[in-house]
Amino acid sequence: MQPKDLVQLAEQFGSPLYVYDAAKIKSQYHRLTAAFSKVERLRINYATKALSNLAILQLLRQIGSNLDTVSIQEVQLGLHAGFQPEQIIYTPNGVSFEEIEAVAQMGVQINIDNLSVLEHFGTKHPSVPVCIRINPHVMAGGNSNISVGHIDSKFGISIHQMPHILRIVENTRMHINGIHMHTGSDILDIEVFLYAAEILFDAAKNFKTLDFLDFGSGFKVPYNKGDIETDIEELGKKLSKRFLAFEKEYGRELTLAFEPGKFLVSEAGFFLAKVNVVKQTTSTVFAGIDSGFNHLIRPMLYGSQHHIENISNPKGKERFYTVVGYICETDTFANNRRIAEINEGDILCFRNAGAYCFSMSSNYNSRYKPAEVLWKDGQGILIRERESFEDLLKNQIMLPLEVATA
Ligand SMILES: *Cc1c(COP(=O)(O)O)cnc(C)c1O
Repeated sequence: MQPKDLVQLAEQFGSPLYVYDAAKIKSQYHRLTAAFSKVERLRINYATKALSNLAILQLLRQIGSNLDTVSIQEVQLGLHAGFQPEQIIYTPNGVSFEEIEAVAQMGVQINIDNLSVLEHFGTKHPSVPVCIRINPHVMAGGNSNISVGHIDSKFGISIHQMPHILRIVENTRMHINGIHMHTGSDILDIEVFLYAAEILFDAAKNFKTLDFLDFGSGFKVPYNKGDIETDIEELGKKLSKRFLAFEKEYGRELTLAFEPGKFLVSEAGFFLAKVNVVKQTTSTVFAGIDSGFNHLIRPMLYGSQHHIENISNPKGKERFYTVVGYICETDTFANNRRIAEINEGDILCFRNAGAYCFSMSSNYNSRYKPAEVLWKDGQGILIRERESFEDLLKNQIMLPLEVATA
């Protein structure tokens, strides 16, 4: 996408605005499938929570993706977008047993990550095939909030509890058809990933009836020029080879699955916001935009660095700015960043705004959530309307007059 296209979309649809480039989502999808082209049965389960707009789900379905979901509502969104139940895997953590049962009843693949749930589910529904989420205790992530493989993590059943898993499976005669791991986000070192994969292969040997091995996700994408990213092509080469050898050893055809979120949609997303004020203080020049952490929380939540460009003045002389939001609370998007000279009214563009941006947005400060636009074949298609005052009122119940005045 060109900066001029983004400026035009901000004019057409207003700001703040999320824009997603369909071509980038497609090319990332094809990059991943190409890297694993030697694997006959490859399955990509897009992690819905990264960006769950129905149009994005439709697009991913159309290019051949399946879905990874973490809540029954995500399952329902997936079905609504046209996915078949068998195209969806459900990987909850800490949800109620009733919800797991309800999702299983829809015909969706269940992935269980807790011994007590495994035992309960296996006892009640021994014929429903279940995938088991293993925690291999491999630390892959850079940020402790998004690393989920470490020893204290709440995710998965510890690999050290394999004897207990096997006891449950034997006692309940439940059917285990897959095993899964997801070691967290931001894998820099593919050797670490391959090491975790070996643990999963070893675990797989304990089950005779597997149909798939799911290696989760956590692929790191570049946020700034020169950033290291997961070398998908190298990972594809090495893991495919190892997988094919394991398949032979296992003696049964297996599907290799991944569930990327960020990798598919992060770089496809652009967040556009207008500069309301440029404020010079004694030490800093602030650029205050018409948005805040209610719309993009990652910098405040994870310390994520989103590259910011002034697309209204791309050739302007670079100066240092601290970009802040309008929320009444500290709300800093970027500290002391070099950005082309900013004037009030300019449109700033935040990169890598596809994953965990809109999906984490809120109405804090009683602001509307932004509109979303899909950029496809040189055209901007509105895929979510900006909220209105009606949306803020929705579901609220005012006190009856006699109570309010009593
Ligand atoms: C969030 C999540 C993913 C996606 O992770 P990314 O880092 O966005 O690729 C995959 N699998 C599970 C189980 C998840 O919870």
